[in-house]
Formats: sequence, structure tokens, C-alpha cells
Amino acid sequence: MTRLLLIGPPGAGKGTQAVRLSEACGVPAISTGDIFRANVRDETELGVKAKEFMDAGKYVPDSLTNDLVRSRLNDADVTGGFLLDGYPRTTAQVDELDDILSAGGHSLDVVVLLVADSDEIVSRLSKRAVEQGRSDDTEEVIRHRLDVYEEQTAPLVDIYTKRDLVVTVDGLGSMDDVTKRITDALGERGIVLSLS
Ligand code: ADP
Repeated sequence: MTRLLLIGPPGAGKGTQAVRLSEACGVPAISTGDIFRANVRDETELGVKAKEFMDAGKYVPDSLTNDLVRSRLNDADVTGGFLLDGYPRTTAQVDELDDILSAGGHSLDVVVLLVADSDEIVSRLSKRAVEQGRSDDTEEVIRHRLDVYEEQTAPLVDIYTKRDLVVTVDGLGSMDDVTKRITDALGERGIVLSLS
């Protein structure tokens, strides 16, 4: 049973690692970014509201994001644990998650902070823009997303460090190298994953 968060700037490789780690832990990976993009694609009410924020590189308002996560964390497949990728990103979201977890008598096991320097991030995301055509991957929007991360999400690291939950992992290098770094760091905390 693992309840794990992945935090890091856009482009640090959270999405890739989230999928691998969730398989290894046997828990669902929940990516708020993926859920928003699916809603935008399907033109749902939530998607229509979220799109303008996403395209501008802004965070979707907490009220929308919190409702979405609260409902997802009440799904049956999450009772054995979860890996949250891209949530929480604001202090209000931290409070919401604490509330959701404590209501079920649960708490977080670990927060993985994936780090990468901003030049590497801009270069990775610009490449992704060409490969995947994401509308929020233009250089101007990428730089804005990095600023928003520094301003709104970086402070979360202090909050979780005070709770002694953070393991910091370098996101540079091959995907396999990074996965190994994360599994080693989790192993040191007694969380043993079986990667296939
Ligand atoms: P990245 O980590 O590269 O920014 P994501 O796929 O995680 O990419 O998120 C894409 C966009 O979705 C964000 O820029 C933001 O607009 C929205 N989003 C995702 N998660 C959240 C969240 N927890 N709070 C607010 N907005 C979010």
C-alpha cells in the first residue's frame, strides 16, 4: 500500500516516471494534467473551463482541480494506494489533499521531488511540442509555466520537507537511470518496488 506524490517542474519527466512507478507499486497513477487534457479533448464542461487556463500556462483554479481530485480519490481502485502526478500544486491543494486523506484515516508515505535545470526543461518541452503538438508547449508559455511553478508549487517542498516526506531525485539522464534513482531512494525509505 503506497500513497505517493510526484512533484517537480514541468518537463522534469514526472509523467513518464509516474506510469512506471505506478505499475511497480500496483497502484493507479493519477495525473491531473492528463485528466484535464482528456476533458479538453472530449469538450466536457470541465474541459471547456480548463482549456483557457492551460493554454495560457496558468493553473486551473483550485476549486475545479480540488473537486476533480476529491472525486477521483473516492474511486474504488484507489483504496489500496495511489500515485499522484501534478497534484497538489498550490498550498490550498495541499490542504484539500490532507483533508481528503484524513477523512479516510490515511496519510502520505512519500513525496518524490524530481528536479531538472530550466535550460534542460525548455529544450525537452520544445521537443515535446514538435512531437506531441501540445498547445501549452510554446517557448513563451513554457517559461511562464516555470515561473508559476517556482511561485506556487516550489513552496510545497518546504511543507513536505517539514513532514520528513521528501526524497529528491535528479531528473537528468535516461528514463531508466531516473527510474532506478527513484526506486533506490524509495528503497532507502523502506518502500520496495518490483520493476518488471
Ligand atoms: P506540466 O507538468 O508539464 O505542466 P501537466 O500535464 O502536469 O504538465 O499539466 C498541464 C496543465 O494542466 C498545467 O499547466 C495546468 O494548467 C493544468 N494542471 C494540471 N495539474 C494541475 C493542478 N494540480 N492545479 C492546477 N492546474 C493543473
